[in-house]
Amino acid sequence: MHELSVCQGLLREVARVAAEHDAVAVDRIVLRVGRLSGVEPPLLLRAFEVARAGTLAESAKLEIQAGPVIVQCRQCGARAEVAVNRLVCPDCGDWRVQVVEGEELLLLKLDIEKL
Ligand SMILES: [Zn+2]
Repeated sequence: MHELSVCQGLLREVARVAAEHDAVAVDRIVLRVGRLSGVEPPLLLRAFEVARAGTLAESAKLEIQAGPVIVQCRQCGARAEVAVNRLVCPDCGDWRVQVVEGEELLLLKLDIEKL
């Protein structure tokens, strides 16, 4: 399952940040998952339940925020939010657009516990 390796990467990142701040536990993880990232939030949550065992994030709550999909048109330069299934410029209708936002997987916030 793709989400499991994504989760393990996330937990490595969480462990690194937690160590930097001398954390003894992680309470909450807020993650931004772009709609074009290829990651399914329900599957990610399930994978997290498995992957977090034995880590600092063992009892952490994982919150997933779905980000918008934003494209920039290579023809007219317009930048706008579009639907996932409609990756064209909303201004001129050209399909030569670049995805500026929506493919990301970002750690937004980490609530940690210190001694
Ligand atoms: Zn355009």
